[in-house]
Amino acid sequence: APAETPQVVIDAHGLPYLDARLPVRKRVADLLSRMSLAEKTGQMTQAERAALTDQGDIAAYALGSLLSGGGSTPTPNTPEAWAKMIDGFQLRTRATRFQIPLIYGVDAVHGHNNLAGATVMPHNIGIGATRDPELAERTGAVTAAEVRATGIPWDFAPCLCVSRDERWGRSYESFGEDPALVESMETVVQGLQGRANGQDLSRNDKVLATAKHFAGDGGTEYGSSTTGTYTIDQGVTKVTPQQLEAVHLAPFRTAVDRGIGTVMPSYSSLDVLGDGRGPVKMHARADMINGVLKGRMGFDGFVISDWNAIDQLPGDYASHVRTSVNAGVDMMMVPYTYKDFSSTLADEVKAGRISERRIDDAVSRILTQKFRLGLFEHPYADTTGAAQIGSPEHRAVARRAAAESQVLLKNTGGLLPLKKSEKVYVAGSNADDIGNQTGGWTLTWQGSSGNITRGTTILQGMREAGGNVTYSKDASAPADGYDAGVVVVGETPYAEGVGDVGNGHDLQLSAADKAAVDKVCAAMKCAVLVVSGRPQLIGDRLDRIDALVASWLPGTEGEGVADVLYGSRPFTGQLPVTWPRSEAQLPINVGDPSYDPQFPYGWGLTTLTHVPRGGAATLRALGVAAAAAERAGADRTGRELVAEARLIVQQKAGQRIGEAMAEPFADAGHLLLTGRYGEAVHKLTEAYRAA
Ligand code: BGC
Repeated sequence: APAETPQVVIDAHGLPYLDARLPVRKRVADLLSRMSLAEKTGQMTQAERAALTDQGDIAAYALGSLLSGGGSTPTPNTPEAWAKMIDGFQLRTRATRFQIPLIYGVDAVHGHNNLAGATVMPHNIGIGATRDPELAERTGAVTAAEVRATGIPWDFAPCLCVSRDERWGRSYESFGEDPALVESMETVVQGLQGRANGQDLSRNDKVLATAKHFAGDGGTEYGSSTTGTYTIDQGVTKVTPQQLEAVHLAPFRTAVDRGIGTVMPSYSSLDVLGDGRGPVKMHARADMINGVLKGRMGFDGFVISDWNAIDQLPGDYASHVRTSVNAGVDMMMVPYTYKDFSSTLADEVKAGRISERRIDDAVSRILTQKFRLGLFEHPYADTTGAAQIGSPEHRAVARRAAAESQVLLKNTGGLLPLKKSEKVYVAGSNADDIGNQTGGWTLTWQGSSGNITRGTTILQGMREAGGNVTYSKDASAPADGYDAGVVVVGETPYAEGVGDVGNGHDLQLSAADKAAVDKVCAAMKCAVLVVSGRPQLIGDRLDRIDALVASWLPGTEGEGVADVLYGSRPFTGQLPVTWPRSEAQLPINVGDPSYDPQFPYGWGLTTLTHVPRGGAATLRALGVAAAAAERAGADRTGRELVAEARLIVQQKAGQRIGEAMAEPFADAGHLLLTGRYGEAVHKLTEAYRAA
């Protein structure tokens, strides 16, 4: 039992912290001054809702937070049941002295993915492929609206990992291998929290966001180990101080500038070359959490640990608690060990090994976000927005995201887009599987194949588009008379752990997928769509494939994929990561000295036939047109090609490209010639804004 049992105050009115007219700072100070040590350590404790054997624990341990880990869903899994469940927990806080509301958190990493029937967005790797910050913000806004409408004010997203090795199984959670790309997609934070986050957080369609995993989660070495198990997920990131800054810390700096409310440290260890310390777990790194994040970057939100992460620290339990709290972790995700944690924490404080100042700082940070979220005024779910969950409006955003995320890697003879009059043979393991196209963190933690939620598969999308389609999953007996084959291959779902040496997950297509590709491509012109969280090794098979598309994990709206297949939208996606030729090349990233991938970072053909007018769309089109011109003739100079691109834009959009743009265009030309399409588009975008 906790050290002190709080007594119930029936009427807490008249206390300054309950006065919503006072500034948050004053309310926090007032409340903090009244709290006991046990009440404070309780605020720093987060339990898994499924771990509560007795809901009375919420008051008995004065818990500050609960979460639903992946797949920890109520039955039935409906918006009403979520709201009712969380309200029930919230009601328990009424039996505490100060009635401090709980803050409930979930991993809504691509839409409200735990909820059946919710709108599921493409995973981050697909969002990175869109190169569309405005769209990224919209996906965040839809996610926030659906999550908050079920009574949940906090989302453990976005992942700001910069993935540097595709063997890492969480590569799909990364916007890409280039920190600049990751930073440009952080508009999603505004989508989640609102643009004036301090004020917007109390809205019934906004949530507190979490930048994770701080820092270097995407940089772990294949085969690295601190525990004896060879792993890449949760492994060791070995970097120079310069690489650490430029690659892994940069996205967090941006998130702090954008007002991110919470940050989650990474399970991984950081080994900064030259500091003589060797690999140290991020949850123990005071230099990074206190020093860099809270100190130098000025992060004023709170730090939430990862799930059971402190258990991975060396030493006994008391030292896990002491080390992580003193390193700057403010709230501990101790899903099943919440009782041990809060009492150990209190003991450490009493013994003087953790200062009361540190505790007060942590609790102040947590309370600040609770006040900002308006939880004291409105602790219970506001389900006004529930009618919008999975609505046509929300699905339209996911559909657009799915379409824009498609990267056309090869398109011999202009096979794509397909014509509706063409007779198309569809095959492959991922053509008709919602579970496979949504991936991990969908309904269950690791995700699963099959008809797991509402949505349309790619096959259904093609049929709805009016395509003349025949389907055979295993491509048994492709007959003659088809104009084209579409083989949809790729991965089955996973969320975490993938990448451990010898666990059976490599970047090879399955034998069944290879057979389907070979059969169909031998019989007819064929397009292969790869539905996966990361590049798959296509190797020499590429020669036998007419069109190749990286579809990533497009989410519930298979229609978005059909939109580009049938040309109602152009392909405009660009590779967010390098597409390797072989296993032997890994890890491979743009800028490597001997860079010879199958497709370079930023690659993406377009089927754009007209340039849309105005703003962001025109900017994107400029870049795409320039890239297309470059690919039309590799023997010409950058300047000539870019001149041609300007001409295309002028003719198609009727837009004059002013002299101010001449230089940036020329610069972009050089970038294009070396395959750096992403950078070229970025350059043009910046120049256009300035002009
Ligand atoms: C993951 C986090 C996630 C947490 C809570 C951990 O296993 O690493 O990304 O937020 O679980 O579900």
